[in-house]
Amino acid sequence: MSATTRPSAGPPADLPVEAARAAMLAGVTAIAGCEAVPLAAACNRILAADLPSPLDVPPHDNAAMDGYALRAEDLDARSAARPLRVAGRALAGQPWLGPWRAGEAIRIMTGAALPPGTAAVVAQEQVRTVAGDAALIELPAGVLAGQNCRRRGEDLRAGARALAAGRCLTPVDIGLAASLGIPALTVRHRLRVAVLSTGDEVVAPGNPRGAGQIFDSNRLALLASVARLGFEAIDLGIVPDQPERLARTLSAASESADVILSSGGVSVGEADHTRDVLARLGQIVFASVAMRPGRPLAWGHIGTALYAGLPGNPVAALIAFHFIVRAALLRRAGALFRPLPGFRVRTRSALGKRPGRSEFQRGVLETAADGEPVVALTGAQGSGILRSLSEADVIIVLPADRGPVAAGEWVEVVPLAGLL
Ligand code: AMP
Ligand code: MG
Repeated sequence: MSATTRPSAGPPADLPVEAARAAMLAGVTAIAGCEAVPLAAACNRILAADLPSPLDVPPHDNAAMDGYALRAEDLDARSAARPLRVAGRALAGQPWLGPWRAGEAIRIMTGAALPPGTAAVVAQEQVRTVAGDAALIELPAGVLAGQNCRRRGEDLRAGARALAAGRCLTPVDIGLAASLGIPALTVRHRLRVAVLSTGDEVVAPGNPRGAGQIFDSNRLALLASVARLGFEAIDLGIVPDQPERLARTLSAASESADVILSSGGVSVGEADHTRDVLARLGQIVFASVAMRPGRPLAWGHIGTALYAGLPGNPVAALIAFHFIVRAALLRRAGALFRPLPGFRVRTRSALGKRPGRSEFQRGVLETAADGEPVVALTGAQGSGILRSLSEADVIIVLPADRGPVAAGEWVEVVPLAGLL
């Protein structure tokens, strides 16, 4: 864990987003434990070590098309003039082992091993059988050496890295491991992430809601986000705005979880106890970030558990989680990660933007009259308005140094597919 700084007396300065990310990641190392899991249970798990291929892929030279295998001697232009005799047949799983001489072709199907001496495979659509004799074929002119041949090891050599350590395994990766004959993979233990909500006004859906109370959306949305990342989500329920109750819950959670996520109570109001409790039980690395939404965002640790005190407002909690905190969880889980990939489009909406803080605005991609993509706001950007986040398919990421954005200007957007 890194050295930490307790905000000194007076209001702590908002940390720029880049500095917050760097300070957060500097103190995070990967959990050590590993286990072997069968491929059927490996999706979304994090590969513990590089996986070398135990074999050449493909394992033998084979045909890429249904057609006829040809010898080198029969590829030149003169051969095109005279028919070849079909001397044998090779099917996938049933190689041709018989004799094969110049002037002869072997009928071959996709995936069948190339008979030794094959220089090219000509697709059956390009071949004419000589009238009255299915065993005599005429070739098109210009068959090239190597055509329609897949060579042993051309995809992957035995011993070469098939999958990199830290990879969060996808359905494709599982197919790749299976294609190498590997039945199980060694992955990191699943990161244990405990999630709680704070607030006297917050009630679990399904329970009666009293005067002035609201339903708890943060905990459910965060538990779902954690599960979608492939981590073990531990539900710690709702903790009222009482410092002792919060301290007991966090202290117990720090014994069993790798990461604790709370929401609410992280600002400087009278009922906000999260920062004080964190300072008492552990260390604060930072407590507010120059971003909107998500400004009240505390990061630190309690014992060996990482701790994120997310904002109470639901959109702020989710943006802070996905755009700041998620990277630390991935690193702790042992995953390779890259910044969320984005791209640039023009905005159809003018965007209110205050310099001095990063802003994350909710957008939908549309197609402009000229056929080019543009982004438009989903509506009101209040940090409690979940509906406008639900309708968004991208987040427009505006850097701190930028001011108001006019319609037609270029902006960076990050797609939310698979994320939120
Ligand atoms: P706080 O930072 O605790 O003052 O919360 C900021 C705003 O977010 C308040 O309007 C809270 O009622 C609301 N809020 C806090 N926690 C939740 C939650 N778990 N689900 C929905 N809204 C919440
Ligand atoms: Mg609160």
